[in-house]
Amino acid sequence: MRVLVVEDEHKISAYVKRGLEEAGYAVDAVFTGPEALEWADAAPYDAIVLDILLPGMDGLSVCREFRRRGMRAPVLMLTARDTIDDRVAGLDSGADDYLVKPFAMRELLARVRALARRAGDQPRTTTLRVADLTMDTLTRRVRRGHRMIQLTAKEYAVLECLMRGPERVLTRSMIAEHVWSYAAVNQSNVVDVYIRNLRRKIDDPSDLKLIHTVRGAGYRLSPGEEENG
Ligand code: CA
Repeated sequence: MRVLVVEDEHKISAYVKRGLEEAGYAVDAVFTGPEALEWADAAPYDAIVLDILLPGMDGLSVCREFRRRGMRAPVLMLTARDTIDDRVAGLDSGADDYLVKPFAMRELLARVRALARRAGDQPRTTTLRVADLTMDTLTRRVRRGHRMIQLTAKEYAVLECLMRGPERVLTRSMIAEHVWSYAAVNQSNVVDVYIRNLRRKIDDPSDLKLIHTVRGAGYRLSPGEEENG
């Protein structure tokens, strides 16, 4: 098992590295986001321990970039703060789990073990499909036919919400809760903005429109004809 540790504070990095090594992992430690991307590109890791607070490129950006590049290694995010917003931001960026500093080594080891085990159990791909639109929830790749579609983390989350309930009418607040946590209210017009972006990327180039507005209710993802109503 190989683990990549990304943390700029050398004391914490050394502590985590030593703990993981004593538990039998092979550990590489890097100190910046760009280094993390370089190392993760070069070698497959069973898990990545990633601190949010890094100089320059922060952990959230690093994690988003891992996922954009199709890296599947599970990511355990480390953070000094513990608020719902932080958790949502971490998970939205593609992290699998979240650990608040200061933490006990035993807990870090348990989380890493669980992540590596879950990754090993997972099927190689998990694909959601509606007509010729596909979403691989492991690599976070989205395609319309053979066309690869680049989405931001939030656009991806909105689309995932629609793709997990095809043919269902989803209200703006259902989508907002999925994407911006339960604390989010009054996100309705923000949802409209993301839907507009998704239409531009997914539907505009195709004759078959998939994203439908259900007037007075919300949105529906379906290959069927749009209803008037
Ligand atoms: Ca740090």
